[in-house]
Amino acid sequence: MLQIAIDGPSGAGKSSVAKAVAKKMGIVYVDTGALYRTVGYYVRSRGVARTDAEGIVKCLPEITIEVRYAEGAQRVFLNGEDLGDRIREPEISMYASAVSAIPEVRAFLLDTQRDIAAKNSVIMDGRDIGTVILPNANVKIFLYASNEARAERRTRELREKGMQVCYEDVLREMIERDSNDRNRAVAPAVAAPDAVLLDNSALSVEQTVDAVIALVEEKTKE
Ligand code: C5P
Repeated sequence: MLQIAIDGPSGAGKSSVAKAVAKKMGIVYVDTGALYRTVGYYVRSRGVARTDAEGIVKCLPEITIEVRYAEGAQRVFLNGEDLGDRIREPEISMYASAVSAIPEVRAFLLDTQRDIAAKNSVIMDGRDIGTVILPNANVKIFLYASNEARAERRTRELREKGMQVCYEDVLREMIERDSNDRNRAVAPAVAAPDAVLLDNSALSVEQTVDAVIALVEEKTKE
């Protein structure tokens, strides 16, 4: 089984790149952020505050998450319901970041992620894939870009999904979320020591995809 780990901050293009690489290589793309978003969505729907760690942990036994793949697309079911793009709302991004700092939430989602990688060749994107989830991945990449480049991409992406957002808000929330993710005590969003750092500020998605595939070819030849 091939395991490719792609970590990095939000808006670095991890999902577009990983999706395209998966398609070209005929492997499964796993979007782990969707799992944290799903937990965040549930917690918010129960009216629990982002800051209420105890309340968040109490929600976990009420949550069943199932991940399915069809025609290259990942669908996540929360207690049997596919939430679609509702988990992409900016408020859910902030909830996802808050719940993801709680050790019990990370433990709750660990097996789901490892089980998928045990059964399929994968390219998995997230924040701790190379450091925690798949420490023996064949290839580890830490993808990043400048704050401005990332916020511009994120704004465009959200607008394409029909959400009305302004660049300044996206930039501010992105910086806050990245800082939470990088500085948390458990599974901080940092590069694994053996990850290849790839700055794609000036690269298109296609160029980044080519760079990733070249790295995979190089690493799997060794
Ligand atoms: O990747 P995405 O932006 O969808 O992730 C949403 C949030 O989920 C991130 O800001 C991060 O806090 C959390 N996350 C995480 N570990 C992962 C994937 C996502 O902590 N492997």
